[in-house]
Amino acid sequence: RMRLAVLTSGGDSAGMNAAVRAVVKAGIVKGWETYVVREGYEGLVRGNSVKISQHSPTKSVTTVPKSVQHNALVHNLRFGDGELLRSGEGDAAERSGGKNLKGRYIIRVGWDDVRGWMGEGGTLIGTARSAAFRTPEGRLTAAHNLIKEGIDALCVCGGDGSLTGADVFRAEWPSLVDQLRTKGEITEAQATAYAHLKIVGLVGSIDNDMCMTDMTIGAPTALQRICEAIDNINSTASSHSRAFVVEVMGRHCGWLALVAGVSAGADFIFIPERPPLGDPWEDEMCDAIGLASCSHRKEGKRKTIVIVAEGAHDAALKPIKAEYIKTVLTERLGLDTRVTQLGHVQRGGRPCAWDRILPTLQGVEAIKALMESTPETPSYMIGINQNKVIRVSLQEAVKMTKAVTTAIEARDWDKAMSLRDPEFAE
Ligand code: ATP
Repeated sequence: RMRLAVLTSGGDSAGMNAAVRAVVKAGIVKGWETYVVREGYEGLVRGNSVKISQHSPTKSVTTVPKSVQHNALVHNLRFGDGELLRSGEGDAAERSGGKNLKGRYIIRVGWDDVRGWMGEGGTLIGTARSAAFRTPEGRLTAAHNLIKEGIDALCVCGGDGSLTGADVFRAEWPSLVDQLRTKGEITEAQATAYAHLKIVGLVGSIDNDMCMTDMTIGAPTALQRICEAIDNINSTASSHSRAFVVEVMGRHCGWLALVAGVSAGADFIFIPERPPLGDPWEDEMCDAIGLASCSHRKEGKRKTIVIVAEGAHDAALKPIKAEYIKTVLTERLGLDTRVTQLGHVQRGGRPCAWDRILPTLQGVEAIKALMESTPETPSYMIGINQNKVIRVSLQEAVKMTKAVTTAIEARDWDKAMSLRDPEFAE
């Protein structure tokens, strides 16, 4: 039977568990054996140094919906086949990191293993940044580990770095298989059977920083957190007639800052793709905010909100920090100003409804893309465009996303903005 593994990589985001759940369940329905890889690419490199004997199923198939039971019969599946539930008692997070999984990173999972994952925050299978996977030797070991487990299909849920890694892995795969065959690590038969690696990407990133898709998994929840936080700030700002500078996440992407600014009715917003072009920008900001706050203060508006993305900079690429903005507002406009750095509350916690729906629909599409994958088809990234789940070339999406950073570095703001949103140019 075909074997599929799913992993989460890079920074975590709400909705990653829903993505893993969808991939596992949709995979099972389509007749695949499903695995999760713990700790992202690092788990792929470490593989399973400890072998376990096959367990008998722990859960009866009656816990699975009727329609799926039918499929189970068709595909001769056993839903208790997974290892997570059997690896120890306790909650899911404990199970996935439990001591019984020590030395084992590529874990067989069944239907029951991912039950209840939809609304869990973070990623229960762990994520990591793997220096080893960046090296050819690391990727050779990763390929060997997959082949040892009989897996030739991989679903990666992560940001642009993780999807770049996926693209590199797929491109290198034939040469990795060849090296393993030459070294005698795998047989000729294995080299033939695993000649093609099926790979698909799901974009998990709170920043919404991937091109060719309207929304990334985790961005809606992060936005929700920011809006709630600014609602809270608004009331205290109004009480004291204060200005607040709110720093939000987004190293190369200003989406969170921009749309949170729209949602909260902010007075000024700093994003990396287009800095304020006033010379100096402090005058531009003070003009905008000064006018607004002076006239508005007189008319009864008692607060000023400035939102700054963590990666914001001026037109010369010099970082613009929240504390400095506070100093400018205090000294030039006499505003009683405070700084709030939202930090990791934007990243954690339960996914909002859209961060459950989006990964579920995309997870199902990822399985379809894997099933149709051939050596001739490109590796796909699953995106969403105008409310339709779509497949785009992983390679192109990664290339276009990198082009935004290049445009920012070249200070070509129009290009950076149009790459983010093609309609911007119009
Ligand atoms: P975030 O958006 O949170 O930064 P990310 O997926 O972009 O998430 P990265 O740290 O850039 O996070 O990448 C995650 C992992 O992907 C890296 O630790 C590395 O193992 C792998 N990776 C990234 N780029 C490459 C590459 N060019 N070649 C091989 N592996 C890579």
